[in-house]
Amino acid sequence: MEVVEVLHMNGGIGHTSYANNSLLQQNVILRAKPITDEAIRSLYANLNPKNICIADLGCSSGPNTFLAVSNLVKAVENQRKKLGRRQSPEFQIYLNDLPSNDFNTIFRSLPKHQEDFRREMGDGFGVPFFNAVAGSFYGRLFPTDSLHFVHSSFTLHWLSQVPQGLEGNKGNICMATTSPLNVIKAYYNQFNNDFSIFLKCRSKELVKGGKMVLTIMGRKNDNPTFHLMELLARALNDLVAEGFVEEEKLNSFNTPVYTPSLAEVKSLVENDGSFTIECLETFQIHWTGDEYDNDDNIIGNNNNAAYKVARGLRAVIEPVLVSHFGEGIIEEVFQRYRKMIADSMSREKTEYTNFVISLIKK
Ligand code: SAH
Repeated sequence: MEVVEVLHMNGGIGHTSYANNSLLQQNVILRAKPITDEAIRSLYANLNPKNICIADLGCSSGPNTFLAVSNLVKAVENQRKKLGRRQSPEFQIYLNDLPSNDFNTIFRSLPKHQEDFRREMGDGFGVPFFNAVAGSFYGRLFPTDSLHFVHSSFTLHWLSQVPQGLEGNKGNICMATTSPLNVIKAYYNQFNNDFSIFLKCRSKELVKGGKMVLTIMGRKNDNPTFHLMELLARALNDLVAEGFVEEEKLNSFNTPVYTPSLAEVKSLVENDGSFTIECLETFQIHWTGDEYDNDDNIIGNNNNAAYKVARGLRAVIEPVLVSHFGEGIIEEVFQRYRKMIADSMSREKTEYTNFVISLIKK
């Protein structure tokens, strides 16, 4: 599977689109907002650029695409007023994703967003210039010293490729509890390579003193379990048992997904050496994107929660599944998957672990 060609979130604005099923990711952006806002506020206060260049890497297509960047623009504007600076900087915004991302839907909604900016920010505010940058963030995307701020949320768990050397990962579709050591090592090495390249490229593209805030889906400890993917593997194994899918077809399927630990992320940043870590925080978020209250009940829990979670995963993983198994199995997989999610949610605390890391280019 060629990740660059295959990977994209479900496009458009329909029932199964990413645009309609990305509440979890939206809440992740909101949880990281205090750190993101503070990072860009201090960048603006210190560097005071006339034109401020901001890139959102892995922007996808949907409400989150504009949410992340408009939060950044607003944070700068608020800071400008606080500092009593007369002139707003000009905003140059770069929206990046892989070439098969639904950029058309983004740009179709651009006039509405520009109108919102005009209304909310008032006279004298220069509406941002929006640009699309199609390509992998595991390579150079921008000229040297051309960016002030890089933001990327819920993207870096996607590897540049399915790792080589996954022999013996039978029945699994990524690194899992029952994966042999060679598989764990292969996934780790791939992440190590990819994340190092990511850091190297961004360190060239950011100006000195520029900042980068990454929110990374990771894992809490050394246990390699990625529970939601293990349930998906179980749903696929059921289809094999029922004769819908050939065993060999499933055995040759692995996903380019890796959830790093905090220590891994931190040590790769330190090894790279071009960034100072300004802030590093961990937070948990429930599979539905809702939060737990003090009694460990999910706030906003409802009977449709499992359905919501399954649809959320479907919006993300469907193109990858279709490219390997074809469209015929999709409804069957997700029906089974939903039941497994419901069962799991009724028995245990089901959450994602996320790291927010704010970095300054040395
Ligand atoms: N940031 C958005 C989207 C998260 S989904 C949000 O918070 O809602 C992850 C996105 O990362 C997808 O759109 C996927 O296509 C993109 N992505 C994954 N690997 C990428 C790569 N190598 N280069 C650019 N984008 C990538």
